[in-house]
Amino acid sequence: MFRIQHRDSQSWARTGELHTAHGMVRTPAFVGVATRASVKAVEPQALMDLGLQIVISNTYHLYLRPGEDTVAKLGGLHRFSGWTGPTMTDSGGFQVFSLGAGKQHGVGKVASIFPGKTLADLSNRKAHAPNSLVRLEEHGATFRSIIDGSPHLFTPESVIHVERKLGADIIVPLDECTSPLHDETYTRRAMERTHRWAHRALDAFRLLKDQPEYPNPNQQLFGIVQGGAYEAPRKESARVIDGLGFDGYAVGGSLGRSKRDMLNVLDWTMPRLREDRARHLLGIGEIEDLFAASLRGIDTFDCAAPTRLARNGTVFLRGEKRHRINLRNARFATDDRPIDPSCDCPTCQQHSRAYLRHLCRAGEMSFYRLATLHNLRFLVRLMADIRDAIAENRLQTLAKEWGF
Ligand SMILES: [Zn+2]
Repeated sequence: MFRIQHRDSQSWARTGELHTAHGMVRTPAFVGVATRASVKAVEPQALMDLGLQIVISNTYHLYLRPGEDTVAKLGGLHRFSGWTGPTMTDSGGFQVFSLGAGKQHGVGKVASIFPGKTLADLSNRKAHAPNSLVRLEEHGATFRSIIDGSPHLFTPESVIHVERKLGADIIVPLDECTSPLHDETYTRRAMERTHRWAHRALDAFRLLKDQPEYPNPNQQLFGIVQGGAYEAPRKESARVIDGLGFDGYAVGGSLGRSKRDMLNVLDWTMPRLREDRARHLLGIGEIEDLFAASLRGIDTFDCAAPTRLARNGTVFLRGEKRHRINLRNARFATDDRPIDPSCDCPTCQQHSRAYLRHLCRAGEMSFYRLATLHNLRFLVRLMADIRDAIAENRLQTLAKEWGF
């Protein structure tokens, strides 16, 4: 299902082909985030025209609305949404995290996204934090709906059942996503439970394989490596998950308090996963991360940031600070140039920075679509450049050219 095309002689990077029931993905690849079976503001055909290869939807959100039975009745995610290419679903594990410990601790996956906060500042929040909206037990996770507050239970088995009905090509088991502020003892306990859940998910996956009510009989189940940003648990999780016979891997959970922690996690994890399976990095996708993760042998990444940034007026432009500009800036008020004169996206072909700035400031809906089209096309082209560089053993050089 995954075939390596070329290994970079200078790093762990590789190019490959990830084969799914709905087509092949050239890797490394950026996975578009279609949380509710839609990349916000852009319809599937336009995404395909951009060259986007694969999208990831969220099991938690689709389970709550419109419900997996509705999606299954309408032929599964592909037929339901009109996106005919490869798809993934996330398991709901991140929602267990973000509505539970993440909320309690007030932090995200990489705690340094709150610059200037010391660890003590962050830890103090615990005392004032609201009670967790999630109850975790060996059996599964009980949580409250974000739509109407009603209680729901996710178990490893029920999540596989939901993902079977949604019918994405690549699915992942329920896992517990710990916070960067959990200590090693708790992180290890959660990881061990996640491993037991992985066994149960695999059993359910095999048991539920050929039932006619499922729209996609050729799904692949990727195992999730946990262990936080602690060396021993991460290494152990990679070893255990690698031994279970999953079709591929996802690196999940807390990636620590800094970019350095994130790179350590990858350095501990990657050598312990067998080479001939695809490796996905969950929820990380800043431009520098795409390089760093590709250099360490990650094949696919998803991240909501590029499309969220676009809707807020931030668009990618190579050579600017962090390779992005904010179109709200007054300096674009009469700027008649496209966002990026070298970009072939529909937005850059037709519109000036000045017009886009006006749309953004006026809150026009068309802005969301136009900015998103540009950012996604930028990433599609960047990933093609990364693949070319790997094929020519010069990914490190390309990263340096980008300033990383
Ligand atoms: Zn463009």
